[in-house]
Amino acid sequence: MSPSSFVDLDSSATTPVSDRVMAAMLPWFREIYANPGSPNPEGERAKAAVIKARESLAEFLGAETREILFTSGGTESNQAAVRSALRARPERRTLLLSAVEHSSILGLIPDLEREGFKVSVIPAGKDGRIDPGEVSALADNNTALVAVMYVNNETGAINPVEEIGEIAHRAGAFFLCDGVAAVGKIPVDAKTVPADFLSLSGHKIHGPKGTGALFVRKGEAFHPLMPGSQERKRRGGTENVPGIVGLGEAARESREFLLEGPGRLERLRDLLEEGVFSLYPEARRNGPENSSLRAPHMANLCFPGMPAEKILLALVREGIYASMGSACSTGALDPSHVLLSMGLSREAALSSLRFSLPRWTSSGDIDRTLSSLGRILGQGASRRVS
Ligand code: PMP
Repeated sequence: MSPSSFVDLDSSATTPVSDRVMAAMLPWFREIYANPGSPNPEGERAKAAVIKARESLAEFLGAETREILFTSGGTESNQAAVRSALRARPERRTLLLSAVEHSSILGLIPDLEREGFKVSVIPAGKDGRIDPGEVSALADNNTALVAVMYVNNETGAINPVEEIGEIAHRAGAFFLCDGVAAVGKIPVDAKTVPADFLSLSGHKIHGPKGTGALFVRKGEAFHPLMPGSQERKRRGGTENVPGIVGLGEAARESREFLLEGPGRLERLRDLLEEGVFSLYPEARRNGPENSSLRAPHMANLCFPGMPAEKILLALVREGIYASMGSACSTGALDPSHVLLSMGLSREAALSSLRFSLPRWTSSGDIDRTLSSLGRILGQGASRRVS
């Protein structure tokens, strides 16, 4: 499916539930509404549906079913992992969080510091990637947790999480890898990424909002954020059966999408970038130059001398949606913490736009975006010199 009235180039903010996911979820709202814990045939059916969804997530992530915990989304998954790690290593008082983490992790810092933990921020390189050497320099036997995301949700930069996970483990720390911006975009395999915790969110992969999962590596003690009897005593609360079924289907569909390969989206993304560079030769890419080091659907572009907010609003008026960074922080006109951590000036960060292409993007969408940008940048440029 694709919207016809507007061009959505903001799929990192969210995605619509796909037709397949919608069809899979519907019966579980009313036809079979039982509590999976109920001792009757309907309860058994609901329980079986949750088991099937867990199998789908496990297959998608290269994990075992008992390593999958259903949550309410990426935020809960990340925060449950941080809290669990701190409780499992009570003698260790330091956390290493990368400068480019999502606010669902960095937003914990004030509370953690009030509780007496020391938080060290791992700096990002100019390309937005985290250098394993920086993690090595900071990790020691007081480190409880290292958190470095797989793919950055603003630049698409792919971090060397295999190496970083090994470093965390050598120091005896847990490794949390926020996989929200990676899953469904690049192959993510828990067999090769040595994460103790890996988070994902349903609404970024055409599943329902308010659903997610946390991979918790087998053998690791897990301390629940919300104690209760469900999810093998790892998360209390009646299971969100329609949501979990929807997430299971979204994982299945994402696997099939990844099997086709990212080539088509990557080519369209490159067309968008090349088009922008020829319209506005001063434009620069924020993120790795080498396309194998960034997710295929993302372009974060700086338009020096042009306030991104103006471009964004002008694009919205033409029915084209992009963003200035994470949807979780827009509204506040602060520059992106991710771009600042890469060394961009405040002005350059406020001149940068994120384009994130959904699966259905067509060459027509890119043409339409470039012709709008041509008009907007042309007007802006003439105003700039006058
Ligand atoms: N991590 C990253 C990288 C994200 O982009 C987001 C969502 N913007 C989250 C975590 C939070 O996920 P959710 O919206 O499901 O809570």
